[in-house]
Amino acid sequence: MRILVTGAAGFLGSHLCDRLLAEGHAVVGMDNFLTGDPQNLAHLAGHPRFSFIRHDVTQFIFVPGKVDAVMHFASPASPNRFSPYGYPNLPIQTLKVGAMGTHNTLGVAKAHGARFLMASTSEVYGDPEVHPQHEGYWGKVNPIGERSVYDEAKRYAEAMTMAYHRYHGVDTHIVRIFNTYGPRMRLDDGRVIPNFIKQALQGKPLTVYGNGNQTRSFCYVDDLIEGIYRLLLSDEHEPVNIGNPDEFTILQLAETVNRILGNEAGIVFQEEARDRDDPQRRCPDITRARERLQWEPRVSLEDGLALTIEDFRKRLQDQ
Ligand code: NAD
Ligand code: UDP
Repeated sequence: MRILVTGAAGFLGSHLCDRLLAEGHAVVGMDNFLTGDPQNLAHLAGHPRFSFIRHDVTQFIFVPGKVDAVMHFASPASPNRFSPYGYPNLPIQTLKVGAMGTHNTLGVAKAHGARFLMASTSEVYGDPEVHPQHEGYWGKVNPIGERSVYDEAKRYAEAMTMAYHRYHGVDTHIVRIFNTYGPRMRLDDGRVIPNFIKQALQGKPLTVYGNGNQTRSFCYVDDLIEGIYRLLLSDEHEPVNIGNPDEFTILQLAETVNRILGNEAGIVFQEEARDRDDPQRRCPDITRARERLQWEPRVSLEDGLALTIEDFRKRLQDQ
């Protein structure tokens, strides 16, 4: 296939390009570098099956040649308001890429008769009342909170995707991604794993927002990409959760990172840093992915952290 990947210079987009190329496909990467980094694609320069178009997907998209699949991954993804890359600091761009970017990429898929896959998120469940979260749960989202620019854009994007499927018959797929981490995340991305690893490598205390009892379930990037690739090739049109169901409190995560790195600076609790809509518990129910994609994650948190730490250590040294 010849596959358009939007958000190709980002963390997940660049790993996705690598996987698609390894499977023998041709890839057209597209990105405007809003939160991504050209360095994430530097190793693909000169690759015979990879090309890149610098473009903002909220503007009309033209791709020369045929397109067999469109994978829409463009969007800021960090909720951290202290990071310049956090979506609270990019609110209009985030709304536009979820809304107009999804509309435009669906238009490309329709014009080319291509299959379409969009990167949705566990944030569509908001601060959930159902635990673990299954795809049938409609969520509890504050429509005007700090996270709303992301959550509501992704909910709109899902609705638009289903409309193109039902009305235009486009072969669409929706993956609801739960917290994923790994090499190539921005050092200053602001999400919890990059923050903790960077702080620990620098011998600083880890910043736990609130009391640290809120939970997340962390998926290593290679596991996620495997699930997404299976979904792309499947006949599944309903949303599918992809994530790791091993659930940890943020405090447990901080203690684990400090232990692995031998960081004696400990932890500092920052009550004021927490946003009011921070989900209290998050864990995917992956029954659907298990049954319909025969997928489940394989990499443990400790193993995934070790691989991520290695990458962060190298990049911090190069700075
Ligand atoms: P990222 O910030 O590393 O990558 C996003 C990429 O999209 C960046 O390269 C950015 O420059 C690009 N982009 C943003 N707006 C654009 C625009 N208008 N035009 C073209 N390119 C644009 O984030 P990520 O973690 O790799 O996330 C990728 C996708 O996966 C996002 O859609 C995100 O919502 C989704 N997602 C990620 C996670 C996760 O845990 N990593 C969880 C849920 C959903
Ligand atoms: N968090 C934290 N310290 C940090 C960054 C994040 O305690 O330095 C917390 C944050 O409040 C949230 C959790 O870690 O409860 C996960 O945050 P992240 O930004 O990774 O993504 P989210 O899952 O909230 O979208």
